[in-house]
Amino acid sequence: MALQVGLGNRLLAAFSPADLNLLAPHIQKTSFDFDAVLVRTGDEFKHVCFPLSGVIAFLVEMTDGHIVASTLMGAEGAVGALALLSPSRSPVTATAYVPVTALQVPVTQMKLAFEKSATIRHVLRLHLRTQLIQLNTVAACNAVHPVECRTARWLLEIHDRVGHSEIQLTHGALAQLLGVRRTTVTLTIRKLRAAGGILFDRRGMLEIDRRKLEKIACECYAVMRSRNKHMYDEELPVSSRGALCG
Ligand SMILES: [Zn+2]
Repeated sequence: MALQVGLGNRLLAAFSPADLNLLAPHIQKTSFDFDAVLVRTGDEFKHVCFPLSGVIAFLVEMTDGHIVASTLMGAEGAVGALALLSPSRSPVTATAYVPVTALQVPVTQMKLAFEKSATIRHVLRLHLRTQLIQLNTVAACNAVHPVECRTARWLLEIHDRVGHSEIQLTHGALAQLLGVRRTTVTLTIRKLRAAGGILFDRRGMLEIDRRKLEKIACECYAVMRSRNKHMYDEELPVSSRGALCG
């Protein structure tokens, strides 16, 4: 049930051939290793980056040094799309949690295409709306749901984007996703192993049992998944799917 893993970026795939022709001279392929930063909090967006694979975490840094993830993104999204609405600096730090391959377009060129093409405007506004809804859900989830359920949700979200049950994720990275101490992560993983949701945990590699985690995760996972599915299946145009990404 992964989100179109291997078929390229879902937003680019919804652009029309004319849209892709507008962008083609400016598109560059790039990659980001584990822990590489795509953009830091306060930096001006230079590119709009369309991931083809991997997982990016958006991290909010508090003044006391705490770091917590607000959302994840893979091949269904675009980093820097916010810059198309108005000149803006990144409100978060975007970091590769699973190595990323991506196509990127300079913001200036993407803005020109955004102004010229109704399809590009429609697709990217849908994406931004979905992100906003996700952020609301994550904020509520962080406030009221137990850490075991939230851990299961994050692991399922990563699984959706990588498409296999072995996930490279350190306890430190999981602590950032959850906004908790590493000791809490250790205890939580122990509980999830006892419940069968995590089968293996060693040297930054977790093996999960998806079905078990689905039973442990809070309702937020299914709610967000359903909303995303509706957007991608019902609202995104089907035009040039995969034309740039084969
Ligand atoms: Zn929740």
